[in-house]
Amino acid sequence: MKDWHLVAAHDMMRVFGEPQALLTHGSGCTVWDEDGREYLDFLGGIAVNALGHAHPALVEAIATQAATLIHVSNFFVTAPQLELAARLKRLAGAGDAGRVYFANSGAEANEAAFKLARLNSGDGRRTRILALKNSFHGRTMGALALTGKPSIREHFEPMVAGVTHIDVTLEALEAAFDDSVAAIIVEPIQGEAGVRELPAGFLARARDLATEHGALLIVDEIQTGAGRTGSWFAFQDEGILPDAITLAKGIGGGMPIGALVTFGAASDLFTPGQHGSTFSGNPLATAAANAVLAEIEAAGLLENARARGEQLRELVAHIGSPLLGGVRGRGLLLGIELTRPIGPALVAAALDEGLIINAPNPETIRLAPPLIVGDAELAEFDRRFRAALARVAAATSDTFSDSDTTTTIAGTK
Ligand SMILES: *Cc1c(COP(=O)(O)O)cnc(C)c1O
Repeated sequence: MKDWHLVAAHDMMRVFGEPQALLTHGSGCTVWDEDGREYLDFLGGIAVNALGHAHPALVEAIATQAATLIHVSNFFVTAPQLELAARLKRLAGAGDAGRVYFANSGAEANEAAFKLARLNSGDGRRTRILALKNSFHGRTMGALALTGKPSIREHFEPMVAGVTHIDVTLEALEAAFDDSVAAIIVEPIQGEAGVRELPAGFLARARDLATEHGALLIVDEIQTGAGRTGSWFAFQDEGILPDAITLAKGIGGGMPIGALVTFGAASDLFTPGQHGSTFSGNPLATAAANAVLAEIEAAGLLENARARGEQLRELVAHIGSPLLGGVRGRGLLLGIELTRPIGPALVAAALDEGLIINAPNPETIRLAPPLIVGDAELAEFDRRFRAALARVAAATSDTFSDSDTTTTIAGTK
């Protein structure tokens, strides 16, 4: 497309940064731009393209469902919708009492969770919701009120009331809990904050405190769910059961869909007429999600996420650059710590080398490749990432002062 840069700048709402390329098609872990340049996709549409691009199982499911039935109103149910609800209950271990509400995005799943928390009011005694500092739960007003990043809440005050943001420590958790808490919402790994794990025992303690005070433990698995961390859901590594989880991103493999899955008594809080959405559980979206989750199971992609995640960690550690610190995260949701605020420069250099990665903040590179990555893609990542790093290292030695440069570039880390 001619002058797409100018058209984008002119016609698109200015909510996103300048687009890096105009992408035309993809296959597996690769996407191409309009000039035919090829990129290795190690961001996966931000933890969305679980099966990579144009996976035959997903393409077939969408094509078949589109030719069969794309949409009906919620005065009816469809088979793909019921199949997905049962599947999500099973994978999450929500038990027989569990229930599923379908949304169209992550923010919308969290809006449903917010309303669920309001319904857990204990006849008006429980008015507060606890959320974590630096958390990300989405951009709509309810989800934004839950989000613990002042920079993205700025300009949109007043917020929906009743949310308290606490430090991500066991002490802050203990101190904040009392009988006025209706719910606590937690990301098991804070993705947008730079792939940050919670302190050890945090989720288990939140579970105990929530139970003690009649509050709901809501786990936002929008980024971590659907096998991303090597388990179906990250909470499953902590030996606890939440009252609700929210899902989106990976479960649709690129088809917009979200979900709220409730466990136990929380499943009976909503009653008819209290919530809904025109597209909720749309047969096209739910058929796609069924195909994605079935393929993750059939192809053993949880195991692959774990194994490839370990390989990636070792590979990054092996680079031994003074610009790289440790690697955080689990499975195929990894955050590479940078010792300098070079995130944006490294992302740009990687793109030049044909590699898509992302910097949720200047000191972190996030990797969230498709769960299908194999040896060939890891080897190619290694080559391109090293090349990008070398470029940035060369530029960095000009940018920082002499004494800095000596310790940073030649330094011993
Ligand atoms: C991406 C994300 C959201 C928001 O999802 P959208 O589909 O962009 O609305 C919420 N919570 C977490 C943890 C996320 O990573």
